[in-house]
Amino acid sequence: MNAPTNRQTSIQDPRKRTDSAPSPDPTQSASTVELQAREEASISALHDMLETMTHCRKCPRLVAWRDTVAEVKVKRFASEPYWGRPVPSFGDLRARLLVLGLAPAAHGGNRTGRVFTGDRSGDWLYRALHKAGFASQSESVSLSDGLYLKDCYITAVAHCAPPENKLLPSEVAHCHPYLQQEFEQLPRLKVMIALGKIAWDAILREPQFAMPKGTPKPKFGHGLVVDLPAGHTLIGSYHPSQQNTFTGKLTEPMFDAVFTLARKVLAAETQTFRSDSHTTPETECC
Ligand code: SF4
Repeated sequence: MNAPTNRQTSIQDPRKRTDSAPSPDPTQSASTVELQAREEASISALHDMLETMTHCRKCPRLVAWRDTVAEVKVKRFASEPYWGRPVPSFGDLRARLLVLGLAPAAHGGNRTGRVFTGDRSGDWLYRALHKAGFASQSESVSLSDGLYLKDCYITAVAHCAPPENKLLPSEVAHCHPYLQQEFEQLPRLKVMIALGKIAWDAILREPQFAMPKGTPKPKFGHGLVVDLPAGHTLIGSYHPSQQNTFTGKLTEPMFDAVFTLARKVLAAETQTFRSDSHTTPETECC
């Protein structure tokens, strides 16, 4: 394969850009200090997992495909080095919002090394995230374009580009442990946006997000909102694939509305956090 010459990765430095989510008060109690220590440990483990993932070869079909695409390329990107490896998740490791996509595109993420970067789906996603205040800019073209996310983290059901954008069930299963670890270790996770039905199902399959016994599993739909038992909110959205955007199945206002909604849910949560803080004597001093 065409080994990438640029060793930079898209994994966002967890020490940076942490100002978007509410932080515990500086006049902290012992339990707050313990909470912060646990959060740091989670973030560190997540960061290590993302590094490890970029060397994964568990799916022979996807490994062969990502290597071939990186070697053969397409004419318009013929002079560019391709990433040609698993594409790690991207964003703020202290995020409250998680966006779950399907898999990197052959000449998008598989080329640039960052999810939704360098293709039309990414144009849609980062434009919507920027409008809702989750992304520093709407342009996402390469690892060195300066983009960073605030209070938002983007991951995928599978981290290698599949032929014809179609994954086998075994490949979804192979990659699922990475996603599970993200669900467990994103310390502030509150809202999840599922881009498409496969992402929706992957979230609801998790025991921690499953509906109570006897409650039917919610069906996927664009703009559907489900309050999950452990306090998370799940929002469904059509995937911003060209198949959906070119046909008008997904329009810009429809897509923007999903992120505006996520912003509102998080704002309500921040409000609750602040009200709770005011009733705690330790935080009322000075
Ligand atoms: S899709 Fe996931 S499990 Fe399969 S090779 Fe890529 S990173 Fe590994």
